[in-house]
Amino acid sequence: MGDNYSYWEKTSFLSGYDVIIIGSGIVGLSAAIHLKVNSPRLRVGVLESGFLPSGASTKNAGFACFGSISELIEEIKSDGEDNLLQRVEMRWKGLLKLRKNLGDLAISFKQNGGYDIFKAADKSCAQECLDQIDRLNRLLKPIIGKHDIYAVANAKIAGFGLAGVTDLIENKYEGQIDTGRMMDALVKKAAGTGVHIFNNCRVENIQQEDGRHVINTSQGAFDTKSAILATNAFAKELIAEIDVIPGRGQVLVTAPIDNLKISGTFHYNRGYTYFRNIDNRVLLGGFRDINFNEEQTSQPGITDLIQNALEKLLSEVILPGQAPQIEHRWSGVMGFGSELSPIVKKIHPGLYCAVRCNGMGVAMGSLLGEQVADMVEL
Ligand SMILES: Cc1cc2nc3c(=O)[nH]c(=O)nc-3n(C[C@H](O)[C@H](O)[C@H](O)COP(=O)(O)OP(=O)(O)OC[C@H]3O[C@@H](n4cnc5c(N)ncnc54)[C@H](O)[C@@H]3O)c2cc1C
Repeated sequence: MGDNYSYWEKTSFLSGYDVIIIGSGIVGLSAAIHLKVNSPRLRVGVLESGFLPSGASTKNAGFACFGSISELIEEIKSDGEDNLLQRVEMRWKGLLKLRKNLGDLAISFKQNGGYDIFKAADKSCAQECLDQIDRLNRLLKPIIGKHDIYAVANAKIAGFGLAGVTDLIENKYEGQIDTGRMMDALVKKAAGTGVHIFNNCRVENIQQEDGRHVINTSQGAFDTKSAILATNAFAKELIAEIDVIPGRGQVLVTAPIDNLKISGTFHYNRGYTYFRNIDNRVLLGGFRDINFNEEQTSQPGITDLIQNALEKLLSEVILPGQAPQIEHRWSGVMGFGSELSPIVKKIHPGLYCAVRCNGMGVAMGSLLGEQVADMVEL
């Protein structure tokens, strides 16, 4: 009997697209906006499975960062200097694009600095990072345009009220944003350019037919010339051969804290754990590394093991001697894989993808979205 869509609904909402983007995270929305801004006559649609964008873009920590020094050293070890520099450039250029496209006010961008913290037990890691400050400043200067990116900042430890921290390395060009405001601004900008965004519309499969694509969804079939997969951690559910492995990240946010001393974005344990100030509260997340297997999932969920580890760090190091109330807890899913760099490519004629942000999509997402949009053969 069919789906009961009217002729009008089919012609105005479900068919005739030039490009359909699957996933309304930062990558998908950036791609959609870029297509419409450059070619206003294009019909561009975005299909999103969630009631809200339901991937990492609304669940992250809002660090506007291109890498703490301990993370960068790990990346050089596993993937070499050249690949690391390419990724740092993607993150830096992505952040500049995000700020230019939406404006610092709209996303509450603040350059409060970023810090790598080390406890006494992390002395060897701290020493390795201290030894590499000059090298990394030299390597990153052509990208960031500054010579003094990383510097010892032990004098600030007491002012931040951190306990048990023996070394602090600052990155003064790191910033923070309000993630919710960023996504709100992206959704509004996409809608303002004439992009159709459909929520609660889960894509089930993509079929090629006569040089066009049929996108079968929980709400019916959409017809488009081209499609972009921007589903990051969930990419394999639609294209099995894509090398993306989900990795869940858990987060908590405290109640407001009187005289909160930390200001900025903080990285611990090579970036696996992170915290920041937001609205006089502490946002703290990470510890995925203490239970990699269970956290390698695209299912939402929080676990006692990780939440307890977060709370221990909170009460012992970040807010020593205080017993802050925890008001929010959630999880989000990132896209990792066997390689650290993102995948931006044509899968077959008319089908493209921009996925595997490796936990850095706030930084590189605007750039990846625009890159994949530029690949589309119109
Ligand atoms: C806890 C946490 C903290 C993070 N902190 C930071 C940070 O501080 N800085 C930083 O740079 N990055 C951070 N990240 C990573 C960053 O959030 C992601 O890399 C980025 O949001 C990925 O954007 P995306 O658009 O590629 O994917 P997503 O935002 O995941 O968007 C994919 C979208 O596709 C939708 N979707 C999936 N399957 C389907 C389907 N079949 N049909 C329709 N829609 C579908 C999903 O609902 C989702 O909305 C963090 C991530 C997490 C989880």
